[in-house]
Amino acid sequence: MATRMGPAADMATERDIGADQPGTSPAPEPAATEVGAPKTLVLILGDQLSREIAALDGFDAGRDIVLMVEVAQETTYVPHHKQKIAFILSAMRHLAAELTEEGIAVDYVRLDDPANTGSFTGELARAVARHSPTRIVVTEPGEWRVRRMMDDWPERFGVPVQIRDDDRFLCSRAEFRAWADGRKAYRMEFFYREMRRRTGLLMEGDEPTGGRWNFDAENRKRLPATLTPPRRAGVEPDAITREVLALVAARFPDHFGDLDGFAWAVTRQDALSALERFISEALPHFGDYQDAMAQAEPFVFHALLSPYLNVGLLQAREVCVAAERAFRAGQAPLNATEGFIRQILGWREYVRGIYWLEMPAYAQTNALSAQRPLPWFYWSGETAMNCLATTIADTRRHAYAHHIQRLMVTGNFALLAGIRPDEIEAWYLAVYCDAFEWVELPNVHGMVMHADGGLLASKPYAASGAYIDRMSDYCGRCAFDPKIKTGPGACPFNVLYWNFLIENRATLGRNPRLAMPYKTLDRMPADRTATIAREATAFLDSLDQAQAPPVAGQQDLFA
Ligand SMILES: Cc1cc2nc3c(=O)[nH]c(=O)nc-3n(C[C@H](O)[C@H](O)[C@H](O)COP(=O)(O)OP(=O)(O)OC[C@H]3O[C@@H](n4cnc5c(N)ncnc54)[C@H](O)[C@@H]3O)c2cc1C
Ligand code: SF4
Repeated sequence: MATRMGPAADMATERDIGADQPGTSPAPEPAATEVGAPKTLVLILGDQLSREIAALDGFDAGRDIVLMVEVAQETTYVPHHKQKIAFILSAMRHLAAELTEEGIAVDYVRLDDPANTGSFTGELARAVARHSPTRIVVTEPGEWRVRRMMDDWPERFGVPVQIRDDDRFLCSRAEFRAWADGRKAYRMEFFYREMRRRTGLLMEGDEPTGGRWNFDAENRKRLPATLTPPRRAGVEPDAITREVLALVAARFPDHFGDLDGFAWAVTRQDALSALERFISEALPHFGDYQDAMAQAEPFVFHALLSPYLNVGLLQAREVCVAAERAFRAGQAPLNATEGFIRQILGWREYVRGIYWLEMPAYAQTNALSAQRPLPWFYWSGETAMNCLATTIADTRRHAYAHHIQRLMVTGNFALLAGIRPDEIEAWYLAVYCDAFEWVELPNVHGMVMHADGGLLASKPYAASGAYIDRMSDYCGRCAFDPKIKTGPGACPFNVLYWNFLIENRATLGRNPRLAMPYKTLDRMPADRTATIAREATAFLDSLDQAQAPPVAGQQDLFA
C-alpha cells in the first residue's frame, strides 16, 4: 500500500525565492541599473536546451543575458558515460551558438576555462559579479540535488531568484499532487487514463480510440529472424561536437563507455529528423516487438528519443502528436501507437510525478533490505552470462540499452541478487545517455528494485531464465542453459529467482500478484528448495569474491 513520504518534496516554484521562503533571508532590493529596467540573468541548465524554456519567457534581448555553464561537479558526481557528457556539452554549445546568432547575449563558461570554479553556485557568483543583474531567472531543475543547491542563492548573491515551473511536461507537479492526493495506491494505468482524457490524445470523445485503453497484450512478440529493424539514424559529428569529443576523451579517460561511433543528434533540427525517421520506419513495428531482445539488434524498433526529450531538444507533446498523426493517417497500427504514447504520456510523466512527490525520502528506502555490493562485471562486462554481457556491451558502445534490457536483464539480475539500491542506481545514472535522476531513480528504485515497497509498481519484475529465453536469442549463445534449473550448466537466473522468493517471503509472500509463484514454491519438495538455496548462496558468494577495485573516477561512488 502506498503512502505519501515527503511533504518537503513540494518545494516552491514559479515565484521568487528570497523574501518569503522559509530558511532564506529576505531578498534585497534590485540594484538600480537603468531607470526602472530590471536586468535579468537567465540561467539555462544542460537539460533545459529548448528555445521555449520557461526561463526565457519575457527575455529582453536589449538588456538581459543568458548564462550557460559547463561545470565539473555535474560531469563527475557519478562517472557518467563519456557519450553522455559529450552529448550534453555539445547540445549546450549548439544552443548557445543558435541564441547568439539570434542576437541574444550568451555568457558561456566552458569546462576547460581556467577560471571555472566547477559548480553552479561558483559560476553564478562569478556571473553576478560580471553582470550585476537585478534578478536571476531559472527554470526548475530536474533533480532534487540541484534544486536544493538553489535554496541559498538569493542570500548568497544578493538578488531575487525566480524559479519557474518546467512547462515541458504534460502534467505539472501541482497537477500530479492533486491526482495523487487521497489515493491509497498510485498506479500508472489510472494516471495514464486521466492524461489521455486531459490531453485528448487517442480519444474519441470520452472513449479511448479502439475501445480499449491499453493494447499491451498484443505487444509481446519475439523478434523473428526474417525481420530486420531499421538501421540507426546517426548524426555525423560536426566541428563543435568533434571539439567536445576531444575534450571528453582527454578529461574523462577513466569514465565508462566508448566515444567512437558517437551518433547522437545535438541540435533540435537533427532531433526532429530522428523523430520523423522513427515515426516512418520503426513505429509501425514498435508495439509488436516492444519487449523483444536480440543479440545483433541493440535498438530493435525503439525510438532512441529519450536523450532528446530529457534535455529539451524535443517536446513530449510533439512526439505524442506525431505518433497519433501517423496512426490517423493509417501509417502505424493502434497497438504500436498506443504503446508508444503510453510510454511518454503515461510512464514518463508518472515517474516524474512520483519523484517530486516523494523526494527526498524516496531515495532512502530499501524495502527488501538488499545489501550486496554491485558486482564488478556491471562495469567490465566480464561475465559468462550472455544476456548480461550483451546488454553491458551495448551500453558501453552506445550509452543506450532499451527498456527490456534495462528492466529484465541488468535490472532483474540486480533485484534477484539483492544489490544495494544506491549502488545500482548510481550505475544506471552513470551509464545511459538519457539518465537524469527524476526519471532514472523511480525506474530503478521503484520499478526494478522494489525498494519503495511497491509504491510505484504493484509487484517486483522478477523473472527466471525462461523469460529471457522467450523474449531473446541470447540463451543460444550462452555458457548456461535456461532449461536447466539447478546443477552444472543451470542458468543462474533460475536458482536466483526461486531463492529471491524464498528469501523475501516475509515481505512479498502475501502480494496477490505473486500468489502463483509462491504456490509453485510451496509445492516444491524440501530437498529441491534446499538445493536452490545452496546453489544460489554459492553463486552469490562467488560474485562477492569477484569484486575488483574501482578505477579512477569511480572510487568515490560507493564511499
Ligand atoms: C532500470 C531502468 C532505468 C531507466 N532509466 C531511464 C533514464 O535514466 N532515463 C530515461 O529517459 N528513461 C529511463 N528508463 C526508461 C526507458 O528504459 C527509457 O526511456 C528508454 O529505454 C529510452 O529509449 P527509447 O527512446 O528508445 O525508448 P522507447 O522504448 O522507444 O520509448 C519511447 C519513450 O518513452 C519514454 N519512456 C519509456 N519507458 C519509460 C519509463 N519507464 N520511464 C520514463 N520514460 C519512459 C522515453 O521518453 C522514451 O524515449 C529506464 C527504465 C528502466 C527499466
Ligand atoms: S541462459 Fe541464463 S544467463 Fe544465459 S543468456 Fe539465457 S538467461 Fe542469460
